[in-house]
Amino acid sequence: MKIPFNKPYLTGNETKYIEEAVSSMKISGDGMFTKKCHTFFEDKYGFHKCLLTTSCTDALEMAAILIDIQAGDEVIMPSYTFVSTANAFVLRGAKIVFADSLPDHPNIDVEKIEALITSKTKAIVPVHYGGVACDMDEIMSLAKKYNIFVIEDAAQAIDSFYKGKPLGSFGHLAAFSFHETKNIISGEGGMLVINDERFAQRAEIIREKGTNRSQFYRGEVDKYGWMDIGSSFLPSDIIAAFLFAQLENIDKIQAKRIAHWNAFYEKLKPLSDKNYFTLLECTEGKTNNGHLFALILPNLDERTKLIEFLRSKSILAVFHYLSLHKSPYFTSKHDGRTLENCDHFSDTLVRLPFYYELTHDEIHLICNTIIDYFDAK
Ligand SMILES: *Cc1c(COP(=O)(O)O)cnc(C)c1O
Repeated sequence: MKIPFNKPYLTGNETKYIEEAVSSMKISGDGMFTKKCHTFFEDKYGFHKCLLTTSCTDALEMAAILIDIQAGDEVIMPSYTFVSTANAFVLRGAKIVFADSLPDHPNIDVEKIEALITSKTKAIVPVHYGGVACDMDEIMSLAKKYNIFVIEDAAQAIDSFYKGKPLGSFGHLAAFSFHETKNIISGEGGMLVINDERFAQRAEIIREKGTNRSQFYRGEVDKYGWMDIGSSFLPSDIIAAFLFAQLENIDKIQAKRIAHWNAFYEKLKPLSDKNYFTLLECTEGKTNNGHLFALILPNLDERTKLIEFLRSKSILAVFHYLSLHKSPYFTSKHDGRTLENCDHFSDTLVRLPFYYELTHDEIHLICNTIIDYFDAK
């Protein structure tokens, strides 16, 4: 029996809703299911305005256009993140200024941010790693003090909270992902959240190829035309139909994933107490949304050995991001600062299999295999 790293979960209504979308003969963007998804998020989380996109990458690209990034503008973000966090801004000519992670969590270390702010800084992009909140109070107050934008990369952070408020509701803008590796999925998919009303109308235009077609559909104008730059960022209603079936089950999905997380934690905490590895903890005021379960090994060699051992037992554990400041694309552009915590997570973080349909027995098998491995040492 092989335990994969990820397995997408289907709630059962995905194909039914897709058939409904298809038979309605309105399968381009912003159909019935897209509207249902927007309303769902706006009602459940109090987001000011939501727009589905074809990916979180697209939502980040829209954000970069919306805050009017110009060549040479600086954007501060962690280096321990997915390529799209940076790439979306690079496409608009931004200079990326990478900040280090916290010593005990891949999230951006807010104490490192202020020294990186210059007159050219246009935005901070916190990434809520593993769905655990960055220190948003500190980030928002820096943003206010220096008059810069905050765009949350909330790709992994659905249904997670900071001091009781949902992630994705703090920044001027936020981006979510529904890629099949996330908690709530549509294959590929994403969403831009607009919390600052000044971006609302322009966001619709940018998402619709630079036209005011959305206003036209609402009957607010009698013809639509080219108003601004833009692209085709909106998904087909077929994608939204799939997504809506997932959203209807979000509480069930989240409860199960969090229960899985707690089961892993309970079994593996004693080993972390013996310093074989450390676990990512949620500090005060932050919730765990059951996105991933990671171990931090002491060094690269120990991580490689553990991954190989698990693989020999048919358990697929995987490492995660490689420091972006050392990537082939960026290394010559980086200002040379060492980002030791980021590099540490690059070398030592391993993610265990984690998905909705993991059984209790499988979680125990994974944990017992890890326990046996360390006991034998
Ligand atoms: C998954 C992910 C993305 C990209 O999401 P897509 O929907 O695949 O474009 C961006 N940032 C982070 C932190 C992610 O985990």
